[in-house]
Amino acid sequence: MKIDLTQLRRLPEKKIELNETFDFTHIIEGYVQLERLSPVQFIGKVELLAGLFLLEGKLKGTMTLLCSRCLTEIEHPFSIPVRILFASRNNAPDAELPEDEIEWLDVDTLEPRPFLEEEIKLAIPYTPLCKEACEGICPECGKNRNEGACGCNTEKIDPRWEKLTTLFAQKQDKNE
Ligand SMILES: [Zn+2]
Ligand SMILES: [Zn+2]
Repeated sequence: MKIDLTQLRRLPEKKIELNETFDFTHIIEGYVQLERLSPVQFIGKVELLAGLFLLEGKLKGTMTLLCSRCLTEIEHPFSIPVRILFASRNNAPDAELPEDEIEWLDVDTLEPRPFLEEEIKLAIPYTPLCKEACEGICPECGKNRNEGACGCNTEKIDPRWEKLTTLFAQKQDKNE
């Protein structure tokens, strides 16, 4: 999807409707918590407003995340609102522009793809959880503790007491 801005300026409605589906699956590589990414649909428009181009719409799809504690898959449907202002260096409006809120284009073409990709990346939760009270995985036996206790004693032992604990365990073994 490449938008010819010169052409857009000539349109009577000064607007192009967009509805395109993207494959952004390569994003997965950079995120351990992202297991899968469905095709992502962008529905929106590019509109000429006071000499600037507004890319506006919604990105819809589903991320499959991994719980950061127990690694269970989480289906995470998303609908990300997009609103990005662009200015073309060749044809910028004379008015003073809020520099930091505008993406400058060196050519009179707008390729939304990299900007939409960035929006998706920003929407990936950093430490997803299958549920707020996720118990995580037992560091001893690897069992998912949400499915029930595994019986391991994983309470952190103060190293100073470790000897005593070992002694105690040995004594218990003898008694059994
Ligand atoms: Zn979990
Ligand atoms: Zn365990």
